[in-house]
Amino acid sequence: MGQYLLRCVSDRSVQPAYSLACPHDNSLLRADYQARQIEPKNLPGIWRFLDWLPVQGIIAKAKGAPVTYRSRGLAKELGLENLYISFNGYWPERGAKNPTCSFKDLEAAPTMQMLLERGDNPTLVVASAGNTARAFAHVSYLTGQPLVLFVPEKALDRMWTAAEAKGRGTGQVTLIAVQGDYYDAIQIAEKVQSLPGFAAEGGARNIARRDGMGTVMLDAALALGQIPKHYFQAVGSGTGGISAWEAALRLKADGRFGSFLSRLHLAQNIPNAPIYYAWKGKEPLAASADMFDDVLFNRKPPYGMPGGVRDALAETGGEVYGITDLQARAAKKLFEQSEEIDILNAPAVAVAALEQAAMAGSIGAKDIILLNITGGGVARIKEEHTLSMLEPQITVSHWEQAVQFLEGKK
Ligand SMILES: *Cc1c(COP(=O)(O)O)cnc(C)c1O
Repeated sequence: MGQYLLRCVSDRSVQPAYSLACPHDNSLLRADYQARQIEPKNLPGIWRFLDWLPVQGIIAKAKGAPVTYRSRGLAKELGLENLYISFNGYWPERGAKNPTCSFKDLEAAPTMQMLLERGDNPTLVVASAGNTARAFAHVSYLTGQPLVLFVPEKALDRMWTAAEAKGRGTGQVTLIAVQGDYYDAIQIAEKVQSLPGFAAEGGARNIARRDGMGTVMLDAALALGQIPKHYFQAVGSGTGGISAWEAALRLKADGRFGSFLSRLHLAQNIPNAPIYYAWKGKEPLAASADMFDDVLFNRKPPYGMPGGVRDALAETGGEVYGITDLQARAAKKLFEQSEEIDILNAPAVAVAALEQAAMAGSIGAKDIILLNITGGGVARIKEEHTLSMLEPQITVSHWEQAVQFLEGKK
């Protein structure tokens, strides 16, 4: 279970467990699992895919998982006969119970489990525009592992939790608000991560994050009995795109799910769309302070390195879409009315891209398509749970302030 070698994508050299970087270049690392064929386990949530997760044990209480279902409503609207939706949020009627309503729940649980297995019990440091922080906070409540979150002030309204106060452990989660944007939060987090006793989570370089997200593709392939021909997702860093590609590579090597890879259709929200401009070879427009969903803005996506987004697009014959706020807003309405569940703004950008591809005829009406709805059901979870807000313990504008505060807490 979960036995693997960690290899650099560039030269396949084997690296020590838990490495985040390769010695000779800036290649991503990838898990090379011993199990060539996946045997779903009788375990809760994503742990079902333990063969292809970089962990030995599981967090049994972390039950979030993707749910794949066949679309009727949206499929009809778009004239698509084989549209499947991977719903990654909260929608119990469909079996979807991601506790923080996004596919970041799929990343947080295996990352925390991998950290536990490392054995030195460091404090994990995470910078996030909101959804990632919420997901890691939830797992930390379940496991009691220490966690420091850096979240831009503007994203603090995303820091809700459905976990009851009594279930939230004993102050293991430290929330630090950052004056600035997501990039500023990352920069401060990087300083703190380098201190003794703290650990970087690694972002796109973290194989537990990627293979956790890769369960979207695994769940779909197991449900459909084949690798979907197309994969649509809204991206900021594009890590989800890399994950879908890697999962498809493993499924292809498995041999039972088809001998091709899903074409990646990645969607970004213009003008804050560096992956879109890079892939299209276009001059980037000036960034906008306001966007439809700022979880989709990453100024430094893992694009050009071996195993990065560009390789994923090139190897799968992929495409990138630049979606305007107006298009995303209309797509959100279309999805919510036709599928009867609320979604976050980010996945609406993917819905708009799917709409464009269908109109342009770049996908066939009979093609098997997987649409990753990366977050939703916040309105739905509110029907059952009282959400409470996580309050920042301090607001900082420089990393020195953060270090001083954390030193003082010891
Ligand atoms: C993080 C996030 C994305 C973008 O994910 P990538 O890391 O770029 O793959 C999309 N939708 C939601 C809801 C997210 O939280």
